[in-house]
Amino acid sequence: MSCSKFLLISIDCWRSDALSRTNPSLLTPKFDVLTKGYAFAEKFFVTAPATRPSHTSLFTGLYPFEHGLFGQTYLKMFSGVTNLLQTFADAGFEVSGRSQRPEVFRFLDFEPFIGPLDPAVQDQTLASIEPTLQMLEGAAVAPQLRFLHFWYTHGGYGLAGMNMKPGLRELVDAGREQEALRYYYAAATHVQEFLLVEILKRIDLTEWTVFIFGDHGEGFNSEIMSHGDLIHEKVARVPLLAHIPHEGWALPARTLSMIDLFPTICELAGVDTDYRGYGRSLLQAGDEERWALTELDSLFGVGFLHKGNLETEHRRVTSRLSIDGSQLPDNPQGVRQWSLTDGQEFFRQDERAGEHVLRDVMSGAPLDCADPAAYARIYRDLVEGSAYGGLGEQGETTEEKQVLEQRLKDLGYL
Ligand SMILES: [Zn+2]
Repeated sequence: MSCSKFLLISIDCWRSDALSRTNPSLLTPKFDVLTKGYAFAEKFFVTAPATRPSHTSLFTGLYPFEHGLFGQTYLKMFSGVTNLLQTFADAGFEVSGRSQRPEVFRFLDFEPFIGPLDPAVQDQTLASIEPTLQMLEGAAVAPQLRFLHFWYTHGGYGLAGMNMKPGLRELVDAGREQEALRYYYAAATHVQEFLLVEILKRIDLTEWTVFIFGDHGEGFNSEIMSHGDLIHEKVARVPLLAHIPHEGWALPARTLSMIDLFPTICELAGVDTDYRGYGRSLLQAGDEERWALTELDSLFGVGFLHKGNLETEHRRVTSRLSIDGSQLPDNPQGVRQWSLTDGQEFFRQDERAGEHVLRDVMSGAPLDCADPAAYARIYRDLVEGSAYGGLGEQGETTEEKQVLEQRLKDLGYL
């Protein structure tokens, strides 16, 4: 039986301890009632600790090394990648996205589908969700795919314009992590208990498939304050609340990844895309061992998300890393890392520093790592076994070719 109504809700920076199911100190009684029947995934991981590559994996079912957004500052995807929003629009669905930060999706293939949460206001922090409610009610019959993206939980957490002393980073540095987290939890509570509640009230769960998830978590500890700094278990693991209107459906017990949502939605809708990625539909049961990959590349384009850059005309983006034929500047503090997790262990490799860590992914407790090469082999098998390897040959500039070459060297190919 196919499903024809899909709602994807992305809460930016939503960490696995920022909902009442894992943290009863978050007071979201209305949200809890409305999502009571939703399945909750405890082992759900993002593909990147950054908004752009993570959402690109959501919409393509591919890892960053496959879709081309290696990191937040990469300008474009590889060409020829199938994305969910375009595919569903072509298949006759009404497709639209609303975001509190729509310009963050600039230059990505699915950008044309995503507008502001509230077109009437300048500052999306002040957005009304009424236009979203009208959108959901106005298209009651047609098959539809809707995407919502809440930015209020992102760094800043609604504190802009307030003179906070000490600031959140200072609190964390002083060992007052729990105090700093209160502001973040308040932002997460606001999104769930006020904004989402009004939307979820209007969703008929006999018809709709709904996924509510984080695009990455957040740091708030001495090792990492902001999600994009490095790959950390607190940014790689995020909540996923899932509702599929199929009698008897249960969330698989295996480790899950953001790339699983694409094949799930396509299967539910009966839309065939010839998908050959590593994502596995959530309709398929199974608790077999599985490694989820997360990638970070911040080697280029310091401060890319400035307004001026995001307003650049499309034609001026001449390659994945160039504007007007000029390479984005190197980021001296940039890192390239990957991590693997099976839902128990978390292994992170820093490709430039040649350093690795092994931890318990739930507690962060360090583990003895007897054989780091074993994880490198799993990573290498993923890269080598990808059905989308050919796209990686699209390195348009010399510098991009060097980046890809360095990657292969790090993997021990060259
Ligand atoms: Zn994000």
